[in-house]
Amino acid sequence: MKGKRLLMIPGPIEFTLEVLAEMAKPTLSHTDQQFIEEFGQALEKMRKVWLAPNGQPFAIAGSGTLAMEIAAANITEPGDNVLIVHTGYFSERMADIFRLHGANVDIVQSAVGDIPEIDEVRRRLKSKNYKILSITHVDTSTGVRTDVKALSAAAQETNTLVVVDGVCAVAGEELRMEEWGVDIAFTASQKAIGVPPGLALLVTSKKAMESFRSRKSPVGAYYCDWQYWLPVMEAYEGRKSAYFGTPAVNLVRALNISLGQILDEGMEARFERHARNAAAFRAGLSTIGLSFVPVRKEIMANTLSAVYYPEGTDASILPLIAKNGAVLAGGLHPAIKTRYFRIGHMGMSDASEILAVLGSIEQGLATAGYSFEPGASLKAAQSALIQP
Ligand SMILES: *Cc1c(COP(=O)(O)O)cnc(C)c1O
Repeated sequence: MKGKRLLMIPGPIEFTLEVLAEMAKPTLSHTDQQFIEEFGQALEKMRKVWLAPNGQPFAIAGSGTLAMEIAAANITEPGDNVLIVHTGYFSERMADIFRLHGANVDIVQSAVGDIPEIDEVRRRLKSKNYKILSITHVDTSTGVRTDVKALSAAAQETNTLVVVDGVCAVAGEELRMEEWGVDIAFTASQKAIGVPPGLALLVTSKKAMESFRSRKSPVGAYYCDWQYWLPVMEAYEGRKSAYFGTPAVNLVRALNISLGQILDEGMEARFERHARNAAAFRAGLSTIGLSFVPVRKEIMANTLSAVYYPEGTDASILPLIAKNGAVLAGGLHPAIKTRYFRIGHMGMSDASEILAVLGSIEQGLATAGYSFEPGASLKAAQSALIQP
C-alpha cells in the first residue's frame, strides 16, 4: 500500500523514472545551446521511431487532437474529397476536423468492433477523386487495429495521400511509415511514446509537404500552419534556435530521453513485446470468462484492450479495481459506452505489470461478486509470457 497505483489507461500511461526525472529539471531557455541540441536529437529520433528516414518531423505543444488538426488543416483545401476509414470515436473526430477545414468527407463504415474490408475501401477510392485517405491505426474507443499497410497500398493505386492517426499506436504497433507509403502519421506524447501529456508529434512524407506547398488557399488555423512551424523544426534540427511559439521545453527534453529508450529497445523488439504482452493479457482475461469488443483476434490492438464487463457487473468494478492497484478506463464508444472498459498496455509496460493488472482486476471482480477461479487469469497470462 504505497499509495502508488498503476496507470493502465490508453494514455497517459506509466512513464519511466528517467523521463519523469527529466521533467523535473529546471526549465532551460528555449534558445539555450543544450536545449537546441536536445530538441535537434529528438527530431532525428522521431524519424527512426516512425521508420521514415526521409520524413519531416514536427513536435508542437498540444494534445493529440492538435496533431489531428495540424494534419488535416495543412493538406486540406475547401472542396477536397476525403475518405475516412471509420472504426469508432476518433475516426468520427477526424471526419469533423476535415469537414471544418472545408473537405467533402465520405465514410467507409464498419460495425462496432470491426474494421471496413480492404476491397470496399479500394472500390470507394476508385469511385471518386479522393485527395486523402484517413485511417485510425488503433481506435482507442474499440481496441481495433486497422491494416495500415494494406490500406496504404490501396491508396497508392489512386495516388491518394494517406493520413494515419497513430495516437494510440506509434511506438507500440508496427508502423513502417516510409516503406508502407504513409504520408502523415501522428501521435501524442502521453501514449506509447511515454512522455507526459502535452506534445503533438507528426512525421510527414515529401509528398505531403509538396501537397502543402502547392496549396492555393491559406491554412485555416494559425497555430497549425506548417509555414510557421517548418522553419522552426528545420532550425532546431540544424542546431539553431528559431521562434514561432514557445516550445514545451521540459516535455521536449523528456521526449528526447523517451525516444532514446525506445530506440535502445529497438523497434522490432518493441513491436514484438507489445504483441506478446497483449496476447498474454487477453489470454488471462478470456480464461476467467471475459470477452472483447474487437470481433476477431487479428484485429485486436496490441496497445490496449477493450473488454466487456462480465455478466452481472458494470462500471462500478472500476473503482474496486483501482482500490486494488490499477487505474483503468471506462467505455468511450457511444453505442456501447456503459457495457465495456479499457486497459492500456503500451509503452514500457513489462510482463510483471501485465500480471499485476490482472491481479487487480481479479480482486475487483471478486469484490463485485463475479465468480471465477482465483489466480486463473494470472496463470494463463504467465504461461503465455513464459512460452519460448
Ligand atoms: C488519445 C487519442 C486521440 C486524442 O488525443 P488527445 O491527446 O486526447 O487529444 C486521437 N486519436 C486517437 C486514436 C487517440 O487514442
